[in-house]
Amino acid sequence: MSKLTVRDLNVSGKKVIVRVDFNVPIKEGKIKDDNRIVGALPTINYLLENNAKVILLSHLGKVDHKDPVKNEADKIKNNLEPVSKRLAELVDAKVTFVPVTRGVELEEAVKNLKEKEIILVQNTRYEKGESKNDPELSAYWASLGDLFVTDAFGSVHRAHSSTVGIAEILPSALGFLVEKEVEALGKAINNPARPLVAILGGAKVSDKIAVIENLLNIADKVIIGGGMAYTFDVALGKKVGSSLLEEDKVQLAKEFIAKANGKIILPVDSIVANSFDNPTDIKVVEGDIEEGYLGLDIGPKSIELFKKELQGAKTVVWNGPMGVFEKPEFANGTIEVCKAIAELPECLSVIGGGDSASAAKNLGFKDKFSHISTGGGASLEFMEGKDLPGISVIKEK
Ligand code: ADP
Ligand code: MG
Repeated sequence: MSKLTVRDLNVSGKKVIVRVDFNVPIKEGKIKDDNRIVGALPTINYLLENNAKVILLSHLGKVDHKDPVKNEADKIKNNLEPVSKRLAELVDAKVTFVPVTRGVELEEAVKNLKEKEIILVQNTRYEKGESKNDPELSAYWASLGDLFVTDAFGSVHRAHSSTVGIAEILPSALGFLVEKEVEALGKAINNPARPLVAILGGAKVSDKIAVIENLLNIADKVIIGGGMAYTFDVALGKKVGSSLLEEDKVQLAKEFIAKANGKIILPVDSIVANSFDNPTDIKVVEGDIEEGYLGLDIGPKSIELFKKELQGAKTVVWNGPMGVFEKPEFANGTIEVCKAIAELPECLSVIGGGDSASAAKNLGFKDKFSHISTGGGASLEFMEGKDLPGISVIKEK
């Protein structure tokens, strides 16, 4: 079973609508990180080389549609024009920016579009109907093209007009970026080489309930670190001082532990501090954490334990940092886990989750993993075992 990809479409001379993820950070008209634009280039270049007329759609940030004042401000802030300038520098083709999402100006630009040229349409979220998958809007956008390619992995978990609506109307396929994501995440989650070890962390249990549940079902071991581990510690009767704790999830943590049959591996020590913002007293604690201290990273014995548990893993999926990695004092657990995964022989290692991906990159492990997902929310939902509507809508070969 595999999905149609852009290679399966006959794109020559056709108007191909591509949903890309150009939701890049922009400050004062300047793009701070063009990774996502670069990520879309393989699909765009393939289409140009194969004589397609390329129509790009993307969202950028959020646009309020309730309050007219906010609506105007959001539109000014989230204008896609700077992206088209950057795109023009990255491709060897004419790029035309269309500052509207419908109407004569757009229709004329599409009519005049030639093979091997690109149109970038204004932010899809300028349209109120976009996030509601409004059938009228989907039909309108679909009427502009002959074919549709979905290449915005970061948006495939959302059933919007530009991700699902158009795909329901036009012959559609996956772009190269989404294909790569689906292959890597699919292999790790749906068809893993075993043992499969999951490492979960991050701030809150409540964000990750569905991920923990799904991975408890499919993984051979589930290592839990980060802030969420303290709720599990409390479930086991430990004291956690002022560490991150979700009292209302203690019962659930108890149930997970009972159900897990020894699969859950928890930290055995912590790096604790007397304050989050101004940590002047930092130490290693095993067992109970006293009042006035909070756990901000896993400790050295936990690192050793996690390394041991990772030995022999043939698949590792990782979501959620082991500590407050943004602060150097509390980044060590995350660094050491990255190192341990990087050293595993013949192991498919996959990172999902926005902060986990940026932790791995910022800490210097960008090339050490088999796959770092580009979609925070989308990769999380994949790991939850949820259906991703933007992918489901694409037909099997
Ligand atoms: P992801 O985006 O990869 O899914 P999360 O958003 O769940 O990850 O969690 C990331 C955040 O968790 C980071 O900002 C990190 O500082 C925080 N975090 C990790 N460990 C702790 C801890 N012990 N206490 C408080 N925050 C923590
Ligand atoms: Mg996050």
